[in-house]
Amino acid sequence: MSEPAANSVEVCIIGYGPTGATLASLLGLTGISTVVIERQAAPYDLPRAVQFDDEVMRVFQTIGLADKIALSTHVSPGMLFKDREGRLLVDWSRPMEIGPQGWHRSYRFHQPELEGILRDGISRFPNVAVRSCREFLDATQDDEGVTVRMRNLTTGELESLRCSYLVGADGARSSIREMIGTDWNDLNFNQNWLVVDVCLQRDMPELGDHSVQYCEPERPATYVRGTGQRRRWEFALLPEENPEAMAAPDAVWARLARWINPADAVLERVANYTFRAVINRQWRQGRLLIAGDAAHLTPPFMGQGLCAGIRDAANLGWKLIRVVRGQSSAALLDSYGAERIPHVTAYIAQAVRLGEVINTCALESLASAAPAPQGGLRLATIAPSLGPGLAAGWTAPAHRIAPQPTLATGLRADDAAGYGFALFARPGLPVPPAGHLTVIRDAAVQPWLDELGAEAAMIRPDRYVLGAARDHGELENLLAAIAPSSSLGAC
Ligand SMILES: Cc1cc2nc3c(=O)[nH]c(=O)nc-3n(C[C@H](O)[C@H](O)[C@H](O)COP(=O)(O)OP(=O)(O)OC[C@H]3O[C@@H](n4cnc5c(N)ncnc54)[C@H](O)[C@@H]3O)c2cc1C
Repeated sequence: MSEPAANSVEVCIIGYGPTGATLASLLGLTGISTVVIERQAAPYDLPRAVQFDDEVMRVFQTIGLADKIALSTHVSPGMLFKDREGRLLVDWSRPMEIGPQGWHRSYRFHQPELEGILRDGISRFPNVAVRSCREFLDATQDDEGVTVRMRNLTTGELESLRCSYLVGADGARSSIREMIGTDWNDLNFNQNWLVVDVCLQRDMPELGDHSVQYCEPERPATYVRGTGQRRRWEFALLPEENPEAMAAPDAVWARLARWINPADAVLERVANYTFRAVINRQWRQGRLLIAGDAAHLTPPFMGQGLCAGIRDAANLGWKLIRVVRGQSSAALLDSYGAERIPHVTAYIAQAVRLGEVINTCALESLASAAPAPQGGLRLATIAPSLGPGLAAGWTAPAHRIAPQPTLATGLRADDAAGYGFALFARPGLPVPPAGHLTVIRDAAVQPWLDELGAEAAMIRPDRYVLGAARDHGELENLLAAIAPSSSLGAC
């Protein structure tokens, strides 16, 4: 394990939000020397994310924090879309039992609390150093690495360091994105919303556990049940309204009067945002990469912005590790954007479609959703596959997230796999020994292999399927793909 020397590290991350902290944890697990540069001393405290999904909890499991994070969450029954008369337009309820990924489908949480747990977790890794109260200024890359310059906001002094790779997890106004080139794929959503967090002073079960989208064209609004006594309302602002005036306490209480009054709750946080739907077209330039809000922005109607940033970290983390260790060429990093951009675009496009329903009540954009027995539509959670990137062996099952069954030992499959490649295999299938590969032959993985029609499937460290094998030749191909110095089946 290499401890970060004062001025030279393998990876430097700008931004200690959820994306940067998760990526730093993944690098921390494997001993890569890492420095995180962050302008602020504490997590951002304006109202932002309130829900994450099972795939994200799986990443938190990989970094050893899922059980702790789970304690501070509330399992969510999902979201209902209603019109002005209270009629159900869309029912996006989630099953309440544990799903195929080994976790619940949707968790409510408080973002500053989550970020606190992620940051505390970093102290487990001597190879990760955090330099807060530092403003990233600029970076220059050459054949050997990157020189990063920053200002120490406490002393005012200029500081610099060298790294092999620089990751911009520096949020919506990313400087690293500016360096790579801001070239948005704009899905055309641009709307000002007021976001209000309150703490209830008494139990109000009548508000409900489901989130509610009030699809009322004259003033679209959202209600979200948070953790504990926290509740969230979001209101679309009309073009003629002044966002600052709308955020004044009296104006906020006037908006909330339909549900609560000052005797019921105290205002915790109020903020204005412009919701946008954009994805940068380029996520890597040489030794510079971007992740999280630096790479994409979504309206929050699906609760997926932070989730996408955590998925970026999971996709990028193991690839960076292989490249830094010399196990793969730097070209592996091109598969990061190639895989992630179509995936995140599918989520953002769906959020825009939901925004249309919320703004107009029109359901045409959700034409593929099934009719619900009680009227309206029944919405299923989308599960896009990764874009074309890495695949080996029998490639049809590649690019999808693998399930995570609980094994006979009582361990979840990811815990058995650790942070590396795992092969789910039939009990009798001979598998030649391969370093850094965990072979899992448990009865719990057999139904999924049956479903695929495969003898084995190779699961990547980010839990996506690299490929499967129906015969010995395909198995050999899978094993060759993960060998040190292989191209990992780049396609
Ligand atoms: C109203 C609202 C509701 C939302 N709801 C959800 C939800 O329910 N679920 C969900 O998944 N997502 C949701 N999101 C989105 C989610 O909050 C963001 O996607 C997430 O916080 C992005 O994380 P990040 O780490 O990529 O960026 P950030 O959290 O923005 O972190 C970037 C960090 O970089 C630092 N930084 C920037 N520039 C510099 C510099 N030059 N030098 C040093 N440091 C720098 C910043 O200080 C910051 O700490 C919501 C967002 C909003 C606004």
